[in-house]
Amino acid sequence: MKEAFRSIFGTQPHGIWAAPGRVNLIGEHTDYNDGFALPIAIPQTTLIAARRRDDGRLRLHSAQGDGPVHDLALADLVPGAVTTWAAYPAGVVWALREAGHSVGGADLHIDSTVPVGAGLSSSAALECAVAFAYNDLYGLGLSAPTLALLAQRAENGFAGVPCGAMDQLASSCCTAGATLHLDIRAGSHEQVPFAPESEGLRLLIVDTRVKHDLGDGAYAALRAGCERAARLLGVAALRDITPADLPAAGRALPAHLVPLVRHIVTENARVADVVAHLRAGRIAAIGPILSEGHASLRDDYRISCAESDLVVDTVLDAGGLGARQTGGGFGGSVIALVAEDRAAAIGASVTRAFRTAGYREPNLFPVSPARGARRIEREVAET
Ligand code: ADP
Ligand code: MG
Repeated sequence: MKEAFRSIFGTQPHGIWAAPGRVNLIGEHTDYNDGFALPIAIPQTTLIAARRRDDGRLRLHSAQGDGPVHDLALADLVPGAVTTWAAYPAGVVWALREAGHSVGGADLHIDSTVPVGAGLSSSAALECAVAFAYNDLYGLGLSAPTLALLAQRAENGFAGVPCGAMDQLASSCCTAGATLHLDIRAGSHEQVPFAPESEGLRLLIVDTRVKHDLGDGAYAALRAGCERAARLLGVAALRDITPADLPAAGRALPAHLVPLVRHIVTENARVADVVAHLRAGRIAAIGPILSEGHASLRDDYRISCAESDLVVDTVLDAGGLGARQTGGGFGGSVIALVAEDRAAAIGASVTRAFRTAGYREPNLFPVSPARGARRIEREVAET
Protein backbone atom coordinates (compact mmCIF):
# COMPACT_ATOMS: atom_id res chain seq x y z
CA MET A 1 0.00 0.00 0.00
CA LYS A 2 2.77 2.43 0.95
CA GLU A 3 4.70 1.70 -2.23
CA ALA A 4 1.62 2.16 -4.40
CA PHE A 5 0.71 5.38 -2.59
CA ARG A 6 4.22 6.74 -3.09
CA SER A 7 4.26 5.94 -6.78
CA ILE A 8 0.81 7.51 -7.33
CA PHE A 9 1.09 10.63 -5.17
CA GLY A 10 4.88 11.02 -4.79
CA THR A 11 4.74 11.30 -0.96
CA GLN A 12 4.32 9.10 2.10
CA PRO A 13 0.86 8.34 3.50
CA HIS A 14 0.08 9.39 7.07
CA GLY A 15 -1.33 5.94 7.73
CA ILE A 16 -3.25 2.94 6.48
CA TRP A 17 -6.82 2.04 7.45
CA ALA A 18 -8.88 -1.10 6.84
CA ALA A 19 -12.62 -1.76 6.69
CA PRO A 20 -14.11 -5.18 5.92
CA GLY A 21 -16.98 -6.34 3.76
CA ARG A 22 -19.85 -8.08 5.53
CA VAL A 23 -22.27 -10.89 5.16
CA ASN A 24 -25.62 -10.90 6.90
CA LEU A 25 -26.54 -14.10 8.74
CA ILE A 26 -30.23 -13.15 8.96
CA GLY A 27 -32.36 -9.98 8.97
CA GLU A 28 -32.64 -8.95 5.30
CA HIS A 29 -34.24 -5.61 4.31
CA THR A 30 -35.17 -5.09 7.96
CA ASP A 31 -32.77 -2.20 8.57
CA TYR A 32 -34.86 0.42 6.76
CA ASN A 33 -37.89 -0.85 8.68
CA ASP A 34 -36.28 0.10 12.02
CA GLY A 35 -35.73 -3.61 12.69
CA PHE A 36 -33.04 -6.11 13.52
CA ALA A 37 -30.15 -7.69 11.64
CA LEU A 38 -27.26 -10.02 12.40
CA PRO A 39 -24.24 -9.44 10.16
CA ILE A 40 -20.63 -10.55 10.49
CA ALA A 41 -17.61 -8.81 9.04
CA ILE A 42 -15.71 -10.98 6.57
CA PRO A 43 -11.93 -11.22 6.20
CA GLN A 44 -12.08 -9.53 2.77
CA THR A 45 -11.11 -5.93 3.40
CA THR A 46 -10.74 -2.54 1.77
CA LEU A 47 -7.46 -0.79 2.56
CA ILE A 48 -6.85 2.92 2.31
CA ALA A 49 -3.50 4.66 2.47
CA ALA A 50 -4.18 8.31 3.23
CA ARG A 51 -2.43 11.61 3.61
CA ARG A 52 -4.00 14.86 4.77
CA ARG A 53 -3.90 17.83 2.38
CA ASP A 54 -4.29 21.46 3.29
CA ASP A 55 -5.24 22.87 -0.12
CA GLY A 56 -8.90 21.85 -0.25
CA ARG A 57 -8.39 19.08 -2.78
CA LEU A 58 -9.43 15.45 -2.57
CA ARG A 59 -7.39 13.15 -4.77
CA LEU A 60 -8.64 9.59 -5.14
CA HIS A 61 -7.11 6.51 -6.69
CA SER A 62 -8.35 2.92 -6.56
CA ALA A 63 -6.63 -0.23 -7.74
CA GLN A 64 -10.15 -1.38 -8.69
CA GLY A 65 -11.19 1.96 -10.15
CA ASP A 66 -11.11 3.38 -13.62
CA GLY A 67 -7.48 4.36 -13.97
CA PRO A 68 -6.50 7.97 -13.42
CA VAL A 69 -6.52 9.88 -10.15
CA HIS A 70 -9.77 11.76 -9.52
CA ASP A 71 -8.81 15.27 -8.44
CA LEU A 72 -11.79 17.00 -6.82
CA ALA A 73 -12.17 20.37 -5.11
CA LEU A 74 -13.95 20.09 -1.76
CA ALA A 75 -15.91 23.23 -2.59
CA ASP A 76 -17.46 21.40 -5.58
CA LEU A 77 -18.70 18.38 -3.59
CA VAL A 78 -22.46 18.50 -3.99
CA PRO A 79 -24.79 15.53 -4.52
CA GLY A 80 -24.89 14.58 -8.18
CA ALA A 81 -21.52 16.18 -8.96
CA VAL A 82 -19.61 12.87 -8.93
CA THR A 83 -21.09 9.93 -10.81
CA THR A 84 -18.24 7.40 -10.83
CA TRP A 85 -17.00 5.11 -8.01
CA ALA A 86 -15.39 8.25 -6.57
CA ALA A 87 -18.86 9.26 -5.31
CA TYR A 88 -18.50 6.76 -2.43
CA PRO A 89 -15.29 8.17 -0.90
CA ALA A 90 -16.10 11.77 -1.88
CA GLY A 91 -19.55 11.30 -0.33
CA VAL A 92 -17.99 10.53 3.04
CA VAL A 93 -16.03 13.79 2.98
CA TRP A 94 -19.23 15.60 1.93
CA ALA A 95 -21.20 13.93 4.78
CA LEU A 96 -18.57 14.89 7.35
CA ARG A 97 -18.64 18.51 6.21
CA GLU A 98 -22.46 18.52 6.09
CA ALA A 99 -22.44 17.31 9.71
CA GLY A 100 -20.35 20.34 10.64
CA HIS A 101 -16.91 18.75 10.89
CA SER A 102 -14.26 21.07 9.51
CA VAL A 103 -12.28 18.56 7.48
CA GLY A 104 -10.05 19.40 4.56
CA GLY A 105 -8.63 17.43 1.66
CA ALA A 106 -6.62 14.25 1.38
CA ASP A 107 -4.83 11.94 -0.98
CA LEU A 108 -6.38 8.46 -0.80
CA HIS A 109 -5.21 5.27 -2.43
CA ILE A 110 -7.67 2.38 -2.21
CA ASP A 111 -7.11 -1.34 -2.69
CA SER A 112 -9.63 -4.03 -1.81
CA THR A 113 -10.12 -7.77 -1.60
CA VAL A 114 -13.91 -7.38 -1.20
CA PRO A 115 -15.56 -8.61 -4.40
CA VAL A 116 -17.31 -5.61 -5.95
CA GLY A 117 -21.06 -5.85 -6.50
CA ALA A 118 -21.28 -9.36 -4.99
CA GLY A 119 -23.63 -8.40 -2.15
CA LEU A 120 -20.72 -8.41 0.30
CA SER A 121 -20.82 -4.64 0.67
CA SER A 122 -17.70 -3.38 -1.01
CA SER A 123 -19.45 0.00 -1.01
CA ALA A 124 -19.73 0.16 2.79
CA ALA A 125 -16.17 -1.15 3.18
CA LEU A 126 -14.96 1.71 0.99
CA GLU A 127 -17.04 4.35 2.78
CA CYS A 128 -16.09 3.13 6.25
CA ALA A 129 -12.38 2.96 5.42
CA VAL A 130 -12.56 6.60 4.32
CA ALA A 131 -14.58 7.61 7.39
CA PHE A 132 -12.11 5.94 9.77
CA ALA A 133 -9.15 7.47 7.93
CA TYR A 134 -10.66 10.96 8.10
CA ASN A 135 -11.55 10.50 11.77
CA ASP A 136 -7.85 10.03 12.55
CA LEU A 137 -6.38 12.38 9.94
CA TYR A 138 -8.48 15.25 11.29
CA GLY A 139 -8.61 14.18 14.96
CA LEU A 140 -12.43 14.08 15.01
CA GLY A 141 -12.76 11.58 17.85
CA LEU A 142 -16.01 10.13 16.46
CA SER A 143 -17.24 6.70 17.58
CA ALA A 144 -17.50 3.70 15.25
CA PRO A 145 -21.34 3.82 15.09
CA THR A 146 -21.27 7.56 14.37
CA LEU A 147 -18.78 7.02 11.54
CA ALA A 148 -21.01 4.23 10.21
CA LEU A 149 -24.04 6.51 10.08
CA LEU A 150 -22.02 9.20 8.29
CA ALA A 151 -20.94 6.54 5.78
CA GLN A 152 -24.58 5.58 5.26
CA ARG A 153 -25.42 9.27 4.77
CA ALA A 154 -22.72 9.39 2.08
CA GLU A 155 -24.29 6.44 0.24
CA ASN A 156 -27.86 7.82 0.56
CA GLY A 157 -27.25 11.51 0.06
CA PHE A 158 -24.24 11.63 -2.25
CA ALA A 159 -24.01 8.32 -4.13
CA GLY A 160 -27.83 8.21 -4.36
CA VAL A 161 -28.37 4.67 -3.05
CA PRO A 162 -31.25 4.51 -0.51
CA CYS A 163 -29.68 1.74 1.65
CA GLY A 164 -30.31 1.16 5.35
CA ALA A 165 -27.54 1.33 7.94
CA MET A 166 -26.73 -2.35 8.33
CA ASP A 167 -23.77 -2.53 5.94
CA GLN A 168 -21.91 0.41 7.40
CA LEU A 169 -22.62 -0.60 11.01
CA ALA A 170 -21.32 -4.10 10.23
CA SER A 171 -18.15 -2.84 8.57
CA SER A 172 -17.51 -0.38 11.43
CA CYS A 173 -18.61 -2.22 14.58
CA CYS A 174 -18.14 -5.98 14.05
CA THR A 175 -15.62 -7.94 16.07
CA ALA A 176 -13.81 -11.19 15.31
CA GLY A 177 -15.61 -14.33 16.43
CA ALA A 178 -19.03 -12.70 16.78
CA THR A 179 -22.12 -11.63 14.93
CA LEU A 180 -23.38 -8.10 15.47
CA HIS A 181 -26.96 -8.04 16.75
CA LEU A 182 -28.24 -4.72 15.46
CA ASP A 183 -31.33 -2.96 16.73
CA ILE A 184 -31.63 -0.16 14.22
CA ARG A 185 -34.35 1.84 16.01
CA ALA A 186 -32.60 1.72 19.37
CA GLY A 187 -29.32 2.55 17.66
CA SER A 188 -27.75 -0.23 19.69
CA HIS A 189 -25.72 -3.30 18.91
CA GLU A 190 -24.47 -6.29 20.80
CA GLN A 191 -21.85 -8.90 19.94
CA VAL A 192 -23.18 -12.45 19.90
CA PRO A 193 -20.40 -15.08 19.78
CA PHE A 194 -20.44 -17.15 16.58
CA ALA A 195 -17.71 -19.73 16.01
CA PRO A 196 -19.11 -22.42 13.69
CA GLU A 197 -15.70 -24.16 13.57
CA SER A 198 -16.02 -24.98 17.27
CA GLU A 199 -19.07 -27.10 16.42
CA GLY A 200 -17.52 -28.78 13.38
CA LEU A 201 -19.45 -26.44 11.07
CA ARG A 202 -18.52 -24.03 8.32
CA LEU A 203 -20.15 -20.92 6.91
CA LEU A 204 -19.63 -20.84 3.15
CA ILE A 205 -20.14 -17.88 0.87
CA VAL A 206 -21.21 -18.66 -2.67
CA ASP A 207 -20.79 -15.59 -4.84
CA THR A 208 -23.13 -16.38 -7.75
CA ARG A 209 -21.34 -13.71 -9.83
CA VAL A 210 -24.66 -12.50 -11.16
CA LYS A 211 -26.39 -9.26 -10.35
CA HIS A 212 -29.69 -8.76 -12.14
CA ASP A 213 -30.44 -5.20 -13.21
CA LEU A 214 -33.92 -5.52 -11.80
CA GLY A 215 -32.35 -4.74 -8.43
CA ASP A 216 -31.65 -1.11 -9.23
CA GLY A 217 -35.14 0.34 -9.09
CA ALA A 218 -36.60 -2.53 -7.06
CA TYR A 219 -34.80 -1.61 -3.85
CA ALA A 220 -36.35 1.85 -3.72
CA ALA A 221 -39.77 0.43 -4.67
CA LEU A 222 -39.63 -2.18 -1.89
CA ARG A 223 -38.60 0.43 0.60
CA ALA A 224 -41.44 2.69 -0.47
CA GLY A 225 -43.87 -0.27 -0.22
CA CYS A 226 -42.79 -0.95 3.37
CA GLU A 227 -43.15 2.70 4.31
CA ARG A 228 -46.61 2.87 2.75
CA ALA A 229 -47.70 -0.29 4.60
CA ALA A 230 -46.48 1.15 7.90
CA ARG A 231 -48.46 4.35 7.27
CA LEU A 232 -51.62 2.40 6.43
CA LEU A 233 -51.20 0.31 9.58
CA GLY A 234 -50.70 3.43 11.68
CA VAL A 235 -47.22 2.53 12.95
CA ALA A 236 -43.91 4.36 12.67
CA ALA A 237 -42.25 1.40 10.93
CA LEU A 238 -42.95 -2.28 10.21
CA ARG A 239 -40.73 -3.08 13.18
CA ASP A 240 -43.84 -2.32 15.27
CA ILE A 241 -45.87 -5.17 13.73
CA THR A 242 -45.59 -8.57 15.47
CA PRO A 243 -46.34 -12.01 14.01
CA ALA A 244 -49.58 -12.03 16.04
CA ASP A 245 -50.65 -8.83 14.26
CA LEU A 246 -50.25 -10.36 10.79
CA PRO A 247 -53.81 -11.64 10.20
CA ALA A 248 -55.31 -8.24 11.04
CA ALA A 249 -52.63 -6.45 9.02
CA GLY A 250 -53.44 -8.72 6.09
CA ARG A 251 -57.10 -7.62 6.19
CA ALA A 252 -56.18 -3.94 6.46
CA LEU A 253 -53.72 -3.73 3.56
CA PRO A 254 -53.96 -3.86 -0.22
CA ALA A 255 -53.11 -7.39 -1.33
CA HIS A 256 -49.77 -6.53 -2.94
CA LEU A 257 -48.36 -5.13 0.31
CA VAL A 258 -49.27 -8.16 2.44
CA PRO A 259 -46.32 -10.39 1.47
CA LEU A 260 -43.88 -7.50 1.93
CA VAL A 261 -45.11 -6.99 5.47
CA ARG A 262 -45.08 -10.74 6.14
CA HIS A 263 -41.42 -10.93 5.11
CA ILE A 264 -40.31 -8.06 7.34
CA VAL A 265 -42.29 -9.25 10.35
CA THR A 266 -41.23 -12.89 10.11
CA GLU A 267 -37.65 -11.88 9.32
CA ASN A 268 -37.38 -9.80 12.50
CA ALA A 269 -38.69 -12.84 14.40
CA ARG A 270 -36.07 -15.01 12.70
CA VAL A 271 -33.30 -12.69 13.90
CA ALA A 272 -34.55 -13.13 17.47
CA ASP A 273 -34.73 -16.91 17.03
CA VAL A 274 -31.20 -17.14 15.60
CA VAL A 275 -29.81 -14.97 18.40
CA ALA A 276 -31.51 -17.19 21.00
CA HIS A 277 -29.98 -20.32 19.45
CA LEU A 278 -26.51 -18.77 19.21
CA ARG A 279 -26.65 -17.61 22.82
CA ALA A 280 -27.57 -21.17 23.83
CA GLY A 281 -24.69 -22.61 21.80
CA ARG A 282 -27.00 -24.34 19.29
CA ILE A 283 -25.36 -23.26 16.04
CA ALA A 284 -26.67 -26.15 13.93
CA ALA A 285 -30.23 -25.20 14.91
CA ILE A 286 -30.01 -21.93 12.97
CA GLY A 287 -29.73 -23.79 9.64
CA PRO A 288 -33.47 -24.28 9.04
CA ILE A 289 -34.12 -20.66 10.04
CA LEU A 290 -31.70 -19.45 7.37
CA SER A 291 -33.52 -21.60 4.79
CA GLU A 292 -36.91 -20.23 5.93
CA GLY A 293 -35.44 -16.75 5.49
CA HIS A 294 -34.58 -17.64 1.91
CA ALA A 295 -38.08 -18.92 1.20
CA SER A 296 -39.44 -15.65 2.55
CA LEU A 297 -37.11 -13.59 0.32
CA ARG A 298 -38.05 -15.73 -2.66
CA ASP A 299 -41.81 -16.06 -2.20
CA ASP A 300 -42.85 -12.99 -0.18
CA TYR A 301 -40.25 -10.28 -0.84
CA ARG A 302 -39.61 -11.70 -4.31
CA ILE A 303 -35.98 -10.63 -4.60
CA SER A 304 -34.32 -13.97 -5.28
CA CYS A 305 -33.35 -15.24 -8.72
CA ALA A 306 -32.79 -18.58 -10.45
CA GLU A 307 -29.07 -18.66 -9.62
CA SER A 308 -29.55 -18.01 -5.89
CA ASP A 309 -32.41 -20.52 -5.71
CA LEU A 310 -30.22 -23.11 -7.40
CA VAL A 311 -27.46 -22.62 -4.82
CA VAL A 312 -29.90 -22.91 -1.92
CA ASP A 313 -31.66 -25.99 -3.33
CA THR A 314 -28.37 -27.70 -4.19
CA VAL A 315 -26.86 -27.02 -0.75
CA LEU A 316 -29.94 -28.44 0.98
CA ASP A 317 -30.14 -31.48 -1.35
CA ALA A 318 -26.45 -32.17 -0.69
CA GLY A 319 -27.00 -32.23 3.07
CA GLY A 320 -26.28 -28.62 4.06
CA LEU A 321 -27.93 -27.39 7.27
CA GLY A 322 -29.31 -24.17 5.80
CA ALA A 323 -28.77 -21.59 3.10
CA ARG A 324 -30.08 -18.22 2.00
CA GLN A 325 -29.40 -15.43 -0.43
CA THR A 326 -27.84 -12.50 1.41
CA GLY A 327 -27.60 -8.79 0.62
CA GLY A 328 -29.90 -6.57 -1.39
CA GLY A 329 -31.13 -9.32 -3.72
CA PHE A 330 -31.42 -10.41 -7.36
CA GLY A 331 -28.17 -12.37 -7.21
CA GLY A 332 -25.01 -11.52 -5.35
CA SER A 333 -24.03 -14.04 -2.69
CA VAL A 334 -25.62 -16.95 -0.88
CA ILE A 335 -24.51 -18.16 2.56
CA ALA A 336 -24.61 -21.83 3.47
CA LEU A 337 -24.15 -23.43 6.87
CA VAL A 338 -22.64 -26.88 6.39
CA ALA A 339 -20.83 -29.59 8.33
CA GLU A 340 -17.09 -29.14 7.91
CA ASP A 341 -16.65 -32.67 6.58
CA ARG A 342 -19.37 -32.04 3.95
CA ALA A 343 -18.13 -28.61 2.85
CA ALA A 344 -15.98 -29.76 -0.08
CA ALA A 345 -18.65 -32.11 -1.45
CA ILE A 346 -21.39 -29.49 -1.12
CA GLY A 347 -19.22 -26.89 -2.84
CA ALA A 348 -18.54 -29.34 -5.67
CA SER A 349 -22.28 -30.01 -6.01
CA VAL A 350 -23.00 -26.31 -6.36
CA THR A 351 -20.28 -25.85 -8.97
CA ARG A 352 -21.60 -28.87 -10.88
CA ALA A 353 -25.18 -27.64 -10.74
CA PHE A 354 -24.09 -24.26 -12.14
CA ARG A 355 -22.20 -25.93 -14.97
CA THR A 356 -25.23 -28.09 -15.83
CA ALA A 357 -27.48 -25.03 -15.84
CA GLY A 358 -25.05 -23.17 -18.11
CA TYR A 359 -24.27 -20.49 -15.48
CA ARG A 360 -20.90 -18.87 -14.93
CA GLU A 361 -18.76 -20.69 -12.36
CA PRO A 362 -19.59 -19.43 -8.86
CA ASN A 363 -16.93 -18.27 -6.42
CA LEU A 364 -17.01 -20.32 -3.19
CA PHE A 365 -15.11 -19.63 0.01
CA PRO A 366 -15.50 -20.25 3.76
CA VAL A 367 -15.68 -17.28 6.13
CA SER A 368 -15.31 -16.71 9.85
CA PRO A 369 -16.41 -13.53 11.63
CA ALA A 370 -13.63 -10.96 11.26
CA ARG A 371 -12.77 -7.59 12.79
CA GLY A 372 -14.41 -4.31 11.87
CA ALA A 373 -12.77 -1.12 10.59
CA ARG A 374 -9.55 0.12 12.18
CA ARG A 375 -6.26 1.84 11.62
CA ILE A 376 -3.65 -0.75 10.74
CA GLU A 377 -0.52 1.29 10.24
CA ARG A 378 0.79 4.63 11.42
CA GLU A 379 3.41 6.48 9.43
CA VAL A 380 5.57 9.44 10.24
CA ALA A 381 5.22 11.23 6.94
CA GLU A 382 7.95 13.22 5.33
CA THR A 383 7.05 16.88 5.13
P1 ADP B 1 -21.61 -4.14 -3.07
O1 ADP B 1 -21.60 -3.10 -1.99
O2 ADP B 1 -22.53 -5.27 -2.77
O3 ADP B 1 -20.25 -4.63 -3.44
P2 ADP B 1 -22.62 -1.93 -4.58
O4 ADP B 1 -23.22 -1.81 -5.93
O5 ADP B 1 -23.37 -1.41 -3.42
O6 ADP B 1 -22.21 -3.46 -4.38
O7 ADP B 1 -21.23 -1.16 -4.56
C1 ADP B 1 -20.28 -1.41 -5.58
C2 ADP B 1 -19.72 -0.08 -6.05
O8 ADP B 1 -18.90 0.48 -5.01
C3 ADP B 1 -18.80 -0.24 -7.23
O9 ADP B 1 -19.52 -0.20 -8.45
C4 ADP B 1 -17.89 0.97 -7.08
O10 ADP B 1 -18.52 2.13 -7.56
C5 ADP B 1 -17.76 1.09 -5.58
N1 ADP B 1 -16.57 0.40 -5.05
C6 ADP B 1 -16.55 -0.58 -4.11
N2 ADP B 1 -15.28 -0.96 -3.85
C7 ADP B 1 -14.47 -0.22 -4.63
C8 ADP B 1 -13.05 -0.13 -4.83
N3 ADP B 1 -12.21 -0.92 -4.16
N4 ADP B 1 -12.58 0.77 -5.71
C9 ADP B 1 -13.43 1.58 -6.39
N5 ADP B 1 -14.76 1.53 -6.25
C10 ADP B 1 -15.31 0.67 -5.39
MG1 MG C 1 -23.28 -1.90 -1.41
